[in-house]
Amino acid sequence: MIRETKPSVNGAITDAEVEEQIREMFERNYDLLRQEGGHVLAEGAKQQALEQSLVYWRKLKAIATSVTETEVKLALPGLMTPKRRPFVLEGVVDIVREGEGVRMYDLKTHEESEVRAERELYEDQLNVYAHIWKGVRGQILDGTAIIATRLPPELREALRARDPEAINAAMASWDPVVNLPFDEHEVARTIEDFGRCIDAIEDGEFTPPPPDMLNKSRGTRRRTDHGDVPGVGAENEPTFAQIHCRGCDARFSCASYVAYLRLQARGRGRMIASSDGTDADDLDEWIEVNLGDEE
Ligand code: SF4
Repeated sequence: MIRETKPSVNGAITDAEVEEQIREMFERNYDLLRQEGGHVLAEGAKQQALEQSLVYWRKLKAIATSVTETEVKLALPGLMTPKRRPFVLEGVVDIVREGEGVRMYDLKTHEESEVRAERELYEDQLNVYAHIWKGVRGQILDGTAIIATRLPPELREALRARDPEAINAAMASWDPVVNLPFDEHEVARTIEDFGRCIDAIEDGEFTPPPPDMLNKSRGTRRRTDHGDVPGVGAENEPTFAQIHCRGCDARFSCASYVAYLRLQARGRGRMIASSDGTDADDLDEWIEVNLGDEE
């Protein structure tokens, strides 16, 4: 990724200049990715990506301008999986130092509601990073947080409709910084989980869970941001599909997910439907941004 700031005459840089730089860097990064990796986006998808970058900057300006170390690489070497495979745990975080305080931020391309629904998973990962930062590097740490970079549906819809009032309302209610406590006592268990995952990957265990599992609730994880889903899983608990499949790039070629959608559709008389309609919405959006410019 290209990162740089343009020197200004008096040392200050205005918001308009920052946004101009974001546009320039976005174009250059896009060209670079296209040349190096052959990734090409339809014009609609590209505009959405640029808009997300700009909105993200506007919302998180205070944090962005106070970051003291960006993309800090953390590594924990010398680990071993349950099947005796050596591995190194690595992560990349941003650090903000304010006065005597130090905070660690981990950026995720997820929605804020997803992070809040599965706090434990994100806490586990931050616990490991905190352990490396404090225990291995010997640094102080006062707090950790996830920054959820995906725009919430209401904001995406308001931007698409170009409705200034709705955009302002959605921006005001969006809170992408999810503060999470860290507890280093859980680190050993989390590292063991990572190790089991590595063993499964190395052993080629990629089979998705059976379709009925996708409709089951995920234990302690509470559905708080999208409302209840009658008849799906235990009351107030999100299902596996709602948590994991919704954002999975492989979902439309996953046999379990396709079977799950068919089961859902059978009950509702729709070709494509999910328990909360999200996948149908996602598919519509995907078609819109990818085919919209081919008229
Ligand atoms: S859609 Fe993705 S997350 Fe869901 S079961 Fe299939 S592979 Fe797993």
